[in-house]
Amino acid sequence: MQIIDAHTHVLPEVADLAIEVMDRCGIERAVALAWHDGFGEGLARYLEAFAPYGDRFIVFGNVDWRRVNEPDFGEMAAAQIADGVARGMRGLKVYKALGLEYRQPDGSLWPVNSPAFDPIWAEAGRQGIPVLIHTADPVAFWQPVNDANFWNGVLYGEYAWWSYYRKGLPSREALLAERNDVIGRHPQTTFICPHVGSKADCLDSAADDLDAFPNLFYDLSARIPIMGCSPRRAAHSRAFLTACADRVLFGTDVIYDAASVATGVQAQCLYQPGALPLDGADPRERYVATTVAFVQSHLAFLATETVQEDPPFRRSRSGFRLYGLGLEADVVARIVGGGGAAGSRVADRGAEKGCESVPSCELSSSRSGYAGSVLYRLYLEPIEELCCHSAHSRWIRPSFSSKGLLAKLPDAGETPDRFAYAPCCLLLFDQDRIGGVVNLGIIVEAVVCQKALHSTSPSRCHRPGALYNRMLVVRCQQVADCLQLW
Ligand SMILES: [Zn+2]
Repeated sequence: MQIIDAHTHVLPEVADLAIEVMDRCGIERAVALAWHDGFGEGLARYLEAFAPYGDRFIVFGNVDWRRVNEPDFGEMAAAQIADGVARGMRGLKVYKALGLEYRQPDGSLWPVNSPAFDPIWAEAGRQGIPVLIHTADPVAFWQPVNDANFWNGVLYGEYAWWSYYRKGLPSREALLAERNDVIGRHPQTTFICPHVGSKADCLDSAADDLDAFPNLFYDLSARIPIMGCSPRRAAHSRAFLTACADRVLFGTDVIYDAASVATGVQAQCLYQPGALPLDGADPRERYVATTVAFVQSHLAFLATETVQEDPPFRRSRSGFRLYGLGLEADVVARIVGGGGAAGSRVADRGAEKGCESVPSCELSSSRSGYAGSVLYRLYLEPIEELCCHSAHSRWIRPSFSSKGLLAKLPDAGETPDRFAYAPCCLLLFDQDRIGGVVNLGIIVEAVVCQKALHSTSPSRCHRPGALYNRMLVVRCQQVADCLQLW
């Protein structure tokens, strides 16, 4: 059985490791999605690193969204696509920052369906490459982060900024309507909407979209937990996938990069980076082993009725069982082989050459222990307050392999209620690990990236590495004595 993993992130330096996992899992080819830097020299690095492996990697590149506010952005990006395709790029990846982060000079968000981007979608269609466009997220990302939130294993710590339950952001419905407008207006372009089109929790609506747009495909990546978390959902997922197998691509969202490999656990198996101790194991070997187990969990979910008691998706802190779908063999083959005949067209085409305002206070009162709420509390502090409290200070050196959170920086002249969000490295605030949460008012040192995602270096903004350029001292209420954790 041919298996194509249509959604992976493989950084060039660890291509060999991805191949090792693919060999062990019987995966023939993988779509390697660049995050932000898959154009120009960045794209060249991907293509060079993957060249020795023939057609086993299908590279999806990017356009340079840092230039989104330049007047000729659409044309520039279209030219980038044409150049990329000429060199071997086989798809375009658009991150969810479109709609949620990329801002116009007046501070408002760029809508996904702005006519300014039409040259991009049109050029992809002309070039015959699919656009993998991630828009919005599950319903729960717009809901309070509490025990009832299925994705509460994601929406804290490093990924607290993925909770869109705060003011000043478009609704999920508005974003998906903008996305569908683009898909409808560009029938000559193939769109792959990952994560079941952000509709894994409303599969009837996902199927309606497939009916409405023949140029639309989904991938399964990162949504299997919700699709199989109860017998009822599994039954619904089984019906959906059986009916739509030709329009759904198998994908795992596995991550291979040096920083993740160092943790020794496939990044998608962790609540937060570094959340599981290595215990002396060889990081590389264990990364391979945990990634293989992660992929196999996906395949078992599709092909068997096994109930996985402790599936390797650390996405819900309450834990969940994963109920296998036991799909018919031909349905499984169509999905994992690239979405059947029609989907194979996507994969084969790819393989031709190888393939934010001040957030709501509600959240902080509802879950004071969550990273998100600490963060939101932080947002509410005037910046002067944040910068000058040293009386109780104890300094924490940031650890880039470990926790992360968002901070925000004001622009010069900006009023405190108009901050831009900035990804920043570090810190903990994980109630489980801290133990009791007390009011110490300690000082936390944060190293902060440039203020907006698209203004940082295009790669790995949320693990800044050498990218950060400013230091900001922030004061946190309700933080326990975390020093012992470091
Ligand atoms: Zn992904």
